[in-house]
Order: sequence, then C-alpha cells, then structure tokens
Amino acid sequence: MAKKRVLITGGAGFLGSHLCDRFIKEGYFVIAMDNLITGDLRNIEHLFKHPDFEFYHHDVSKFVHVPGELHYILHFASPASPIDYLKIPIQTLKVGSLGTHNLLGLARVKNARIIIASTSEVYGDPTVHPQTEEYYGNVNTVGPRGVYDEAKRFQEAITMAYHTFHGLETRIVRIFNTYGPRMRLNDGRVLPAFIGQALRGEDLTIFGDGSQTRSFCYVDDLVEGIYRLLLSDYALPVNIGNPSEITIKDFAEEIIKLTGTTQKIVYKDLPKDDPKQRQPDITKAKAILGWEPKVSRAEGLRITYDYFKALPREVLYQRDHKSFDGYIK
Ligand code: UDP
Repeated sequence: MAKKRVLITGGAGFLGSHLCDRFIKEGYFVIAMDNLITGDLRNIEHLFKHPDFEFYHHDVSKFVHVPGELHYILHFASPASPIDYLKIPIQTLKVGSLGTHNLLGLARVKNARIIIASTSEVYGDPTVHPQTEEYYGNVNTVGPRGVYDEAKRFQEAITMAYHTFHGLETRIVRIFNTYGPRMRLNDGRVLPAFIGQALRGEDLTIFGDGSQTRSFCYVDDLVEGIYRLLLSDYALPVNIGNPSEITIKDFAEEIIKLTGTTQKIVYKDLPKDDPKQRQPDITKAKAILGWEPKVSRAEGLRITYDYFKALPREVLYQRDHKSFDGYIK
C-alpha cells in the first residue's frame, strides 16, 4: 500500500523537526516546509537522504502548492519565542492568520485532516489556574505578545470555522512550554538562555523576582500527545503540556546544579505582560487521548544539556545564529 503523505509546516524548526522524525519512524512520506526564518536546516539534515522525505523552502503566508495526495497537514510554522515576535511581529501575525488560511484551503482541496499548533499564550496572563481548555484567557491585544497571542487565537477561530462550515477534519493542540534538543540556543527562551549562560560562564539572568511559574514538557512527550490527538476524532482544543510547575527562580537553581556553573543569578526587569503563572490542566488529554507526560524534568534537562554542550563552540557566542535582515516586511 502507498505510504500516507503528511505535510509539516515549520518542519525545520524545533517542534517541526521532531515531528518529521516521528512521522518518518511511523512509516509516512513526509514533506517538510519552512521559510527558514527561525527554522534551521541542521535540524533535518539527517533526513535528506531518506527516500520518504522532501523539503520545500517556502513561506506559507503565500499560496501553498504541494503536488500529489496529502492525508495529513501539521501546521507548526511560526516564530515562537518572545524575542522572535518582537523582531518579526508582522510575519508572526501573517503566518498565524494568512498562513493558516492557506493551509486550511490546501486541506480542503486535498481532503486532508489538519492539526494546527496553538499555544498556552491564548490564555495570556491567566487568572484561572491551572488553565483548562474552557478558560477564555486574559490577553493584551496591543502588548508585545499580542501579535503572537492574537494570531493564534485567530488561527483557532478560522480552524473551527472551516470545521463547522466546510466540515473539514481539524484538530487544535494548545502547546505549553516545551524543551529539548534543537531549541535555538539564542532564541531568548529561558531554558536555552540559562544553559547558554552557564556554558559561557556568564551569570544567569532572571527576569523579575523569579516567582513567576512555568511548566516544562519534554519534546518527546509533546510529540506523542500531538500524534495521538491528530489520530483522534476530537476537534475542540486540547492542552498538551507537563503539569509539573516550577518557579523560574527554582528552575535557575536546577540549571546551576545540572551544569555545575559557579556563576550567580542576576535580576533584570520583567518584560511587559509576562504571564505570572502557567500550568496546563491535562484532564482532557488524559481522558480523550490516554496521554500524559512520561519524561521527568531531571531526565529531560540532562538530555537537553548534553545536546547544547555538544554544539560547536562558536554557536555559543552568536547572539542569534538566525539573521532577520531583509525579511522584515
Ligand atoms: N526568563 C528569565 N530569564 C531569561 C529568559 C526568560 O527569567 O533569560 C523568564 C521570562 O520572563 C518568563 C519565563 O522565564 O517569565 C519563561 O520565558 P520564555 O521566554 O522561555 O517563555 P514564555 O514567557 O513564553 O513562557
């Protein structure tokens, strides 16, 4: 029987590349698409020799054409760190809105099922804790995070509209903070920031007093949840994340222990609209998908640290190995 064909947008990114690996392993023909603004070909170069893998260098905010059949589409293209959306706010809005519209259209003509990557950012700075899928959120539309949060909220709305109006098979995953190998070392996110600082022998920068919380999910657990959701018949949003919550201060202490750095912690201003607490309620994922995370933070952090340690030394000193010059429209 011919292999099922899957399109993964953002396929050269952190999550996208892990999804490419998973679908190749499951026996699919995988087409990865990426404009490489925040993605990196090094994340998928091991797949180029694979006969069931293709890469298209394309910006999904523009019309998307893929020849042949498609059974599944995973829309994972988007900048996803606060620094990225500050640098490329318009593109962040476009990929979540125009890009999603293009992919929903493609899903219709191909008769494919589509899953879109939403985010815990739809909850904004939440007033309900932990966050259930029924919570509507507390988002500042015109703040620095608004471009991402509102793009993702629009993305959910248009996806549901295609589902109800066109009968399209759609899935929505709300992704909470995720970490693992292939995160960009200098994308500003807290985990690569702390590990990069430890490896360079710099002090660890905590924003605010470090009492804000996050709940970190190891990438393999997330991929398993996404895989199960795609194959399920549930069209409403589902939280996927690890409920193990920690303050950023305690997280910094864990990284200090892990890396053995002798540097200290320094405190910087808290960025505007930085959520004070975040923890997924995963009751739904457990009940509908039989899913829950398996990898402890200790284990996941060890694997991730080993990955960062093995990177070429010059990568440590690049402020950001992706350049946005010429992309900002
Ligand atoms: N953070 C920090 N130091 C850093 C980078 C981030 O204290 O060098 C904080 C940030 O203010 C936030 C948390 O860590 O409260 C997680 O930030 P990240 O950018 O990883 O993700 P998000 O805020 O989107 O959850």
